[in-house]
Amino acid sequence: MAAEDDIVEWFEAAAETAGAVQSQTLRRIIESNLGSEYLGRWLGGDLRVQDLSPAELESLFTSAVPLATHADLEPYIQRIAHGDASPVLTQQPITMLSLSSGTTGGRPKYVPFTRFSSQSTLEIFRLAAAYRSRVFPIRSGGRILEFIYSSKQFQTKGGLMAGTATTHYFASEEFKTKQRTTKCFTCSPFEVISAGDYQQSTYCHLLLGLLFHEEVEFVASTFAYSIVQALTAFEELWEELCEDMRQGTLSSKISMPTMRKAVVENLVPNPSLASKIERECEGLRRSGWCGLIPRVWPNAKYIYSIMTGSMQPYLRKLRHYAGEVPLVCAEYGSTESWIGVNLEPLNPPERVAFAVIPTFSYFEFIPLHKQRKQDSSSRLVTTDDDFEEGQPVPLCKVSVGQQYEIVLTTFTGLYRYRLGDVVEVAGFYKGTPQLTFVCRRKLVLTVNIDKNTERDLQLAVEKGSCLLSRTKAELVDFTSHAEVAHHPGHYVIYWEIKGEVEEGVLQDCCREMDAAFVDQGYVVSRKTSSIGPLELRIVDTGTFRKIMEHFIGNGTAMSQFKTPRCTTNQVLLTILDCCTVKRFWSTAYSP
Ligand code: AMP
Repeated sequence: MAAEDDIVEWFEAAAETAGAVQSQTLRRIIESNLGSEYLGRWLGGDLRVQDLSPAELESLFTSAVPLATHADLEPYIQRIAHGDASPVLTQQPITMLSLSSGTTGGRPKYVPFTRFSSQSTLEIFRLAAAYRSRVFPIRSGGRILEFIYSSKQFQTKGGLMAGTATTHYFASEEFKTKQRTTKCFTCSPFEVISAGDYQQSTYCHLLLGLLFHEEVEFVASTFAYSIVQALTAFEELWEELCEDMRQGTLSSKISMPTMRKAVVENLVPNPSLASKIERECEGLRRSGWCGLIPRVWPNAKYIYSIMTGSMQPYLRKLRHYAGEVPLVCAEYGSTESWIGVNLEPLNPPERVAFAVIPTFSYFEFIPLHKQRKQDSSSRLVTTDDDFEEGQPVPLCKVSVGQQYEIVLTTFTGLYRYRLGDVVEVAGFYKGTPQLTFVCRRKLVLTVNIDKNTERDLQLAVEKGSCLLSRTKAELVDFTSHAEVAHHPGHYVIYWEIKGEVEEGVLQDCCREMDAAFVDQGYVVSRKTSSIGPLELRIVDTGTFRKIMEHFIGNGTAMSQFKTPRCTTNQVLLTILDCCTVKRFWSTAYSP
């Protein structure tokens, strides 16, 4: 039987008995880490796990160990980072720490990374590839044009290796195994992926992608942003790339010796290919680069990347480049743990759901309800955001249509850890839930009693930017800020636009966004003027690139970068304010 069938069979069996598999997963996590300080503190070091039934162990664990946020675990993780080699969170010492992107939460966080982390990454990639190849068969020996990037690995004070999770994975044995054993190979060698300079790497990814253009079976990245960024760069770079192909040379802007050497090895003068690509690009430029991917990579079967959540705003641009080539959503996970796999690659990004993999972590789900007046018998806990919380439930007890916050207990030493993601249960695949990603739980915009999440903001921006379709302009990226320094506070939304737009249209966009926030706190505050008119600020071309470069300069990997949708970061606000070229206010409020 082919390895692809084996992994599908393994997953289907696990999904069938997901509840029991979760109990075993929890038992394995507890057995391997009971000697750790953290688990010992809550469960007692002399617990005899083997004397308890699965149900008893689950019930003991969830009653004795408290729910925790990253802030609760931070003192433990800091000790590890400072070199404490005692069993703090796990029995086996942690030797690597990952940095979560920090662009969603605002600040990078350390999270333990172990061999299990890269093994599960390889496993989920193989599983997803097996499901994809059922509907999109690809040629063995073909190539993948992958826009992937490592950032720098560095040592913490205590000498532990630190870096982003993708960086650790790309440096791991598991990644090498994947490169050796999968049907298709990445166009770029490791030296390009790991160079640590995203502009130089992007140039080389593109050049190698062009050289192997007929062999490219699909185009991929971790998050969709990287594909859009690379193809936008292509619009500027194609002539130079074609010249390099014609001459068999490599642009002098590629200054890193190891990357140069690895790329140059693949180069031979190819004037006919250069002319062919040039002809395509001249036509594409005239049509605004619509359908770039199929024209330049004619055998690409699909585009594969994370396209949900904060990547949704880039879908329009991605579709523009993709033409008829289908978009396939990549998996759902986080630096802390992988969570779910896309079993239905034909589903468009707007409808994708992820089947939870019950062997990766022990998952719990906190039911979330939009806040409403409570009766005295309610067991719901009121929180400072827009939700009331119920009691966490195990994976097999979730209800279809209900929204939850995910809680993880991992093999890497996180116990009942609140991930901060809100998901909705779309259905079940055998015994395991299928989740749609809703948003990060954290509020992004709040001035007083108003409560808006990243999703609310995204919807408002979508509504406002719809009006741009009347023009030839498009929204490149956006972010926001709740301005409370002056009374009354108000929302500021920053847009970078490509193309010309009349001021009247932007004024309408601003009004439309203001009216699109339907949260009652906002509506009431706007009507009573305790929140001022929404302000739309148009920023100069390249502003969001500067923001991305600020994060990359501070250690974020391009592969994991997500534009912060709301910011209080002074450096970012200074960049945004310096780059503001026009301002509009929504003075006539009509929700
Ligand atoms: P990081 O902090 O870089 O590890 O990013 C992890 C976060 O990215 C998750 O907690 C989610 O909020 C988001 N994310 C990851 N995968 C997906 C996905 N498939 N769809 C939507 N959001 C995702």
